[in-house]
Amino acid sequence: MSYILLTVDVEDWFQVENLRSHFPFNSWDSCEFRVEDNTHVLLDLLDDFHISATFFVLGWIAERCPGLVKEIKTRGHEVASHGYGHQLCYELSSSELKKDLYRSKSLLEDIIGQPVHGYRAPSFSITRELVDLLKEFGYRYDSSYNDFSMHSRYGKMNSIQQHFPNARLNRENSFTELPISNLKLGGKSIPWGGGGYFRLCPFWLFKQGVVRILQQQEYYLFYCHPWEFDPDQPRVDGMRIDRRFRHYVNLAETSERMNSFLTSFSQHEFITCSRFLNLA
Ligand SMILES: [Zn+2]
Repeated sequence: MSYILLTVDVEDWFQVENLRSHFPFNSWDSCEFRVEDNTHVLLDLLDDFHISATFFVLGWIAERCPGLVKEIKTRGHEVASHGYGHQLCYELSSSELKKDLYRSKSLLEDIIGQPVHGYRAPSFSITRELVDLLKEFGYRYDSSYNDFSMHSRYGKMNSIQQHFPNARLNRENSFTELPISNLKLGGKSIPWGGGGYFRLCPFWLFKQGVVRILQQQEYYLFYCHPWEFDPDQPRVDGMRIDRRFRHYVNLAETSERMNSFLTSFSQHEFITCSRFLNLA
């Protein structure tokens, strides 16, 4: 049996890393708030397919929309943490990172009344220090490792990869890494886990890649964001052209593509990260 771990990073359109220079943290409260409506689009779609997913909710959003967090839980999904302020982990000092990890976890736990097991770093900004701190704060798994993103941004995170060669191998331990699933071809990693690549790649090709990944490992882990289901979100001028393309490409088709994805793989079991790891 192979599993599909569908994950959602719950943040609003103005909180993505590529827009940080346009919308600094202290401007967020003045931005148009669209995350609740967009998350509902996704929740309704998942309901249609009776599928459970894992929602990594940003603490800043949870603070403003506790009802949405509760709803995610009551509609059968897992609530996990996407940190509090969406700053890249390696740009925070140790004490700032600790504060962010603690604040986001306790905030979500107060809302849902249950322990939060999972964490995903903003923009996959995983470091060794982060992993150690996650353990210290009682998280049971992390889903921030994206080997494609590491190549392009970082390059020197091999120690993480060696530490977590395979999620299954680490399931016996008290802490597990669940990496984003990418396609391995000729020793190279091709981004296949979601985001702009999911919206850009022709669906028939995307589907073939997922089939191949499921032949290579026991699960496929996919990520998306509520703002990707919102073609009417405000457009921002002055973005670098490659980032602009990646952010806005095919937004009007995301719902339809997701529908095709869920239909095409309906014979597989869609499962939350915690249930996959036997934590819930
Ligand atoms: Zn994010």
